[in-house]
Amino acid sequence: MNSAVESMPPSRSGLFRRLPSVDEVLRLETVAALGRDSGRQTVAEAVRAVIDDLREKIASGTLDGAGLDDVLADPAALVAERVRRLTAWSLRPVINAGGVIIQTNLGRSPLPVAALDRIVACATGYSNLETDLVRGERGRRDDHAGSMLDRLARRNGLTDVATIVVNNNASAVLLALAELARGGEVIVSRGELVEIGGSFRIPDIMEQSGAHLREVGTTNRTRVADYERAITENTRLLLRVHRSNFEITGFTEQPALSELVELGRRRGLPVMEDLGSGALVDMAAFGIPSEPSLYESLRAGVSVVTCSGDKLLGGPQAGLIAGRPDLIRRLRSHPLFRALRVDKMCYAALEGTLAGYLAERYDEIPLLRMLRLPPEEVARRCGTLAAAVPALRPEVVPTRTMVGGGAAPGKSVPSFALALSPGSCGAQDLARRLRALPVPVVSRIEEDRVLLDLRTVDEEDDAYLARALAGLESDAVIGEGA
Ligand SMILES: *Cc1c(COP(=O)(O)O)cnc(C)c1O
Repeated sequence: MNSAVESMPPSRSGLFRRLPSVDEVLRLETVAALGRDSGRQTVAEAVRAVIDDLREKIASGTLDGAGLDDVLADPAALVAERVRRLTAWSLRPVINAGGVIIQTNLGRSPLPVAALDRIVACATGYSNLETDLVRGERGRRDDHAGSMLDRLARRNGLTDVATIVVNNNASAVLLALAELARGGEVIVSRGELVEIGGSFRIPDIMEQSGAHLREVGTTNRTRVADYERAITENTRLLLRVHRSNFEITGFTEQPALSELVELGRRRGLPVMEDLGSGALVDMAAFGIPSEPSLYESLRAGVSVVTCSGDKLLGGPQAGLIAGRPDLIRRLRSHPLFRALRVDKMCYAALEGTLAGYLAERYDEIPLLRMLRLPPEEVARRCGTLAAAVPALRPEVVPTRTMVGGGAAPGKSVPSFALALSPGSCGAQDLARRLRALPVPVVSRIEEDRVLLDLRTVDEEDDAYLARALAGLESDAVIGEGA
């Protein structure tokens, strides 16, 4: 490898000549065997890449004759490694120990098993997605989750509410504004002109919908009289946007929903609320009081409410639009509804999730289960994990798990975390190593320690975590540049 003579140009050309052709490598039985799992073309891609690599190494002088001998003795090993890299999944499971329950960057809500069961049942074959099996006619896909949502609404004292499902909450807001307010004005408080992560901005959505934004009040204070003064013959809608990811504290004022509803009634204007999180049950039972549910808004008299399916609802990515049947009917016939429609997997997953609500088996919805996990239970698991990694100077520390994800601003539930002090390699480096594990682990750093909040970790993953941490613990591994 380091012989100056070997790396001289004349011998390089000798090395180049010793490189086998792609076909020669592909004909080796050990290499051909790789194609049975990964496909012949994938193996060919890998072989080409391996040979290109070797050629580059020879050219740069980092591969000498002895090195090439080693490679050519068993080319299949290098090819197999290439095949593994080529066929690695892009979207992979991750263990979320970072202390945020609804984390958009980590896919928001983990799905209930029942949701996956419904996907497997309905999506691996055909389904009655748009077939009325009784009449043998074309049916409507939006009927599917609809009847379950109707039952939930009725249980919450709402007999006259219709619900439709679109791709996500951003789509829901876009569709509702486009149908209910295109060409007219929508009145919004300046304190609610929010941006939700991933560039969902109310003013931008408004512009795309063809509705005109009429801002009223100030960032911290808006009164119902501000809305009233702004109403003209062009006004189509009064819009309330849930402050999903921020709080305004101090000298603040925001009209009660009931005041807006009353104003809307008096002036013949629908009130729409972009609720964001979309809890379907009273979240006080889950440790986050004052997070309004979809039904509370509707009971307060809001005409149309939109929310996400994968925030506090705990289901698949979706946007729910619930409200007055006459308005929902209009949204249903808007061309955007077709463009923003969801597929069979979404309906299947939504039904699987809603079944948990209807059966009141809330622990089958991972998001709700995680919220309700007693802190001492989390502490106990942290303690068990601590025992496996003494060299990382583990300590079980009280912390709070953030609800997160544009759901409940600043809201959190008490929890415990395992704090690790990695010593020489540093917290950043340990966090990076955790992310590089076969199943990556997302942690959080506080005061130069790595914190693992187990509230959001499936207990079945604790054993993996213990093994993985024990592997990282030894200095040999920690000292190795990864
Ligand atoms: C999260 C959120 C959105 C965006 O919802 P998506 O489902 O991500 O499209 C819009 N408005 C509010 C208030 C939100 O909290």
